[in-house]
Amino acid sequence: MKLIFIGPPGSGKGTQAKRLAVRHEIPHISTGDMLREAIADGTELGRQAAPIMAQGALVSDDLMVGIIRDRMAKSDAVKGFILDGFPRTVVQAEKLDGIVGNGSDPLRVLQLLVPDEAIVKRISLRRTCAGCGAIYHLENNPPAVDSLCDRCGAEVIARPDDNETAVRTRLEAFHRQTLPVATFYKAKNVLREVDGIGPVDEVFERIEKSLV
Ligand code: AMP
Repeated sequence: MKLIFIGPPGSGKGTQAKRLAVRHEIPHISTGDMLREAIADGTELGRQAAPIMAQGALVSDDLMVGIIRDRMAKSDAVKGFILDGFPRTVVQAEKLDGIVGNGSDPLRVLQLLVPDEAIVKRISLRRTCAGCGAIYHLENNPPAVDSLCDRCGAEVIARPDDNETAVRTRLEAFHRQTLPVATFYKAKNVLREVDGIGPVDEVFERIEKSLV
């Protein structure tokens, strides 16, 4: 399965993509996680991406396509993958076709629908593990021990770009730059839309049904 997740920030893409990856035994490839790792490791990529991400703007297409090209060349991506956070622009989508478009499995695209009003509330309650990237929600899925990750024990924090100003910029980037990606795939007849409102398990079942 070669699956692309599209959805606004805070729509549950990361949470659902991680689950699907486990169920289908394929890698979960999150460009946001890769950039956050680069920042934590202090690499040149991280140095370039950090100020852009903090604002909530998009990192350049050239940089992102390079990252995905390298990642897709790894052996674990051959049998399939779940892409979370890429492509975020039509240019990225066109380049992705050139990288993976010729395999036997067609790309499938899933768009999680969550209205803007729900996003800001969700993101204000979202917390992320600084160690392994596990995602929590203070009301619906809090860590068992306050502020510590259930899986790895590292600190659970609010992402630096989960503040109100950056979220507004991220939503704007989604509408202006990423929604056209959904239109791009709709025209190719590979897009499925799934309602992203409701408990995580219910949304997961909807996603699985839409992929049959
Ligand atoms: P995410 O974790 O997917 O919400 O991504 C966090 C941030 O990383 C975004 O707000 C962008 O600044 C950057 N980013 C991640 N993926 C991409 C991409 N495909 N193109 C441009 N910027 C990206």
